[in-house]
Amino acid sequence: MADCIFCQIANGQVDSEIVYQDELAVAFRDLNPQAPTHIVLIPRQHIVSLDAAREEHSELLGHLALVAAEIARQQDLAEGGYRLVTNVGPDAGQSVAHLHFHIIGGRPMGWPPG
Ligand code: AMP
Repeated sequence: MADCIFCQIANGQVDSEIVYQDELAVAFRDLNPQAPTHIVLIPRQHIVSLDAAREEHSELLGHLALVAAEIARQQDLAEGGYRLVTNVGPDAGQSVAHLHFHIIGGRPMGWPPG
């Protein structure tokens, strides 16, 4: 999608601090971090949100989950723990309409979220 900021990061048109990439996924540091470590993981494929995901995306979603865990280990988050979040739609505060997972860690976090 030409006007999608995350597609532009994935294809190199917009700079970001990329921490991981493979043929299906890209992960980069969030511009506005909410914790000492805050990484955004996206599929290269433009999917608007988890609500737009379908059976055909099952393998991709499994891949993203495993990649998130691998990134968390690489970032030394596994021992202390971390949160994996995907915001879907306005009530959740989704601000970029490209499916993404926040990998957040490096500090204790409350539950439930505000
Ligand atoms: P959400 O609010 O769940 O849609 O999350 C979107 C996230 O993308 C926010 O945490 C933003 O800070 C982050 N973000 C937006 N634009 C960029 C960018 N160009 N580089 C890195 N992170 C970004």
